[in-house]
Amino acid sequence: MIRVSGPQTAACVARVCPQLSFRDGWRATVTDIVDAAGERLDRAVAVPFPGPRSYTGEDMLEVTVHGSPYLVESVIEAFIAAGARPAGAGEFTRRAVANGKFDLLQAEAIRDLVAADTAWQHRNARQQLAGELSAEFRRLRDTLIALLAAIEASLDYEAQAVEVSPAEISILLENARRQMATLRAGASAGERIRSGLRLVIVGPPNAGKSTLFNYLCGSERAIVSPHPGTTRDLLEAELDIGGVPVVIQDTAGLREGGDAVEAEGHRRAMAAAAAADGALLLWASDSDAEPGGLPETLPVIRVRSKIDLEPRRKAPAGWLGMSCRSGEGVGALRGELLRTVLEDIPDLGGAVAISARHRRAVERAESELDALDLARPETAAQNVRWALDAINELVGQVADEEVLDEIYSSFCIGK
Ligand code: GDP
Repeated sequence: MIRVSGPQTAACVARVCPQLSFRDGWRATVTDIVDAAGERLDRAVAVPFPGPRSYTGEDMLEVTVHGSPYLVESVIEAFIAAGARPAGAGEFTRRAVANGKFDLLQAEAIRDLVAADTAWQHRNARQQLAGELSAEFRRLRDTLIALLAAIEASLDYEAQAVEVSPAEISILLENARRQMATLRAGASAGERIRSGLRLVIVGPPNAGKSTLFNYLCGSERAIVSPHPGTTRDLLEAELDIGGVPVVIQDTAGLREGGDAVEAEGHRRAMAAAAAADGALLLWASDSDAEPGGLPETLPVIRVRSKIDLEPRRKAPAGWLGMSCRSGEGVGALRGELLRTVLEDIPDLGGAVAISARHRRAVERAESELDALDLARPETAAQNVRWALDAINELVGQVADEEVLDEIYSSFCIGK
């Protein structure tokens, strides 16, 4: 689909889709698409969206052509010859925000919705797009504005002819703090849902780590989206576990000593464990000595592997018995994985989880309220103004072009 937006859309349409009446909007019409020489390129379905009833709020056209790259390129060229230019990443959404179609939080939700790989990511993006997060931040803004008004009135109550009691100001301040804390409570969940969890499989050589890794990759839904910046020297796969993206890493055996290659493998396994959110420790033999070196705070699922070899022997307490050969215990392991992953995600009670960018803005606003001293109303008012700035910038009320460039650069072209 090719999308054209802006005040000259109708003029472009007149040249590229000469049979189409642009003002007959919101209706799909089969029409000729012609190039600059008037040569027919395609017959395709076109829908004009006269502004402001369009995605961007401007005059807009969408044409669905037959999909060959050559044809798509030719049609785009025909539009360029007619006066259009190629859109930048996220430019349509950026214009939609500039035209008040939605705010910056909803714009980000569009990007997240496009990128959603799991049920959680999809649900969160959908709610954010519906404006639920925007409403939360609007409520916070309203509280801050009321707080600012109260502090300013208390500064100058003779002129304002209203007296504001200190108790009233304290209540507003507490309200603002509570709202911020509630929003921030969803941050760790939000970052987990967006960027996922990292689990490493560790254990001595031959414990069955690679076999389990392959088993999980084959039985869980594997996510194939590319993740820039992930290390490739350890084998890893991204899986959807209970709606949360989970990167599983297979590591080299954790045997102390050995040759130089093994020592390097061990070093990398330990580094992977240090950066992980959890570990699956595999152990096939009966010695209970655990390999040392795993970070103490790391949640570990202990798995006694290859139990099919000794069916009569029970796994020791605290260990899950499992065999990738017979499949026994794999269900229990999956349950344990799910529990470990979901334990990391606080119950949001249906609220939208905020992202790292949102968290930083809330923290900035919170630190202003922390610095606020009600005994000095002039500076207190300034602190509230700065807190408001942080929130206004977050929702895109005041546009910092650099911040906007950063956000929209993560969009794809055409959105
Ligand atoms: P790693 O070195 O820890 O990655 O171990 P591998 O996954 O390469 O497995 C080592 C050997 O154990 C291979 O020959 C596997 O076929 C075997 N193995 C893995 N899992 C099982 C299992 O559940 N039962 C049995 N009987 N053999 C297994």
